[in-house]
Amino acid sequence: MREKRGTAGKRLWILAAALLAASVLLYVLVLRPSAGGTPETQTVQVLLDGEALGNEKSIHPGGEDLRVYITLNGEALLDLPFAEAHTVRITQPDGGENTVTLTGTSVYMTEANCDGQDCVQMGEVTRDNLEVRVMGGFIICLPHKISVEVR
Ligand SMILES: [Zn+2]
Repeated sequence: MREKRGTAGKRLWILAAALLAASVLLYVLVLRPSAGGTPETQTVQVLLDGEALGNEKSIHPGGEDLRVYITLNGEALLDLPFAEAHTVRITQPDGGENTVTLTGTSVYMTEANCDGQDCVQMGEVTRDNLEVRVMGGFIICLPHKISVEVR
């Protein structure tokens, strides 16, 4: 009887430790604000419609229509008007690749070489489903620390 209680207690501790580890991982991957200008974001390559992105990180800013905001590691990478058709390809130094497609009426992650392909499977964000999707206006690639938000 004593042994059995001991085992249960140990299991609880393991569970608690696992939960703690998971939340620490989540914090490190997603929530931690990066200390200004991390090397990764400086060497990341962004192709907008096949052309290397210059200093311009906000395409056709202004107006009140929806925009698409792409961030890497919590830092703004690029934002564009939702209503324009574009392809954005992001290549990171570690080989991580993501392609975001804007059709003019929807936004989705066309392809990515991440494990799990969660971002690709999140499907499209449209004006109609924006409010009802589980993820709202977000498409997130957790392994590559990329978020795409329509707002
Ligand atoms: Zn992904």
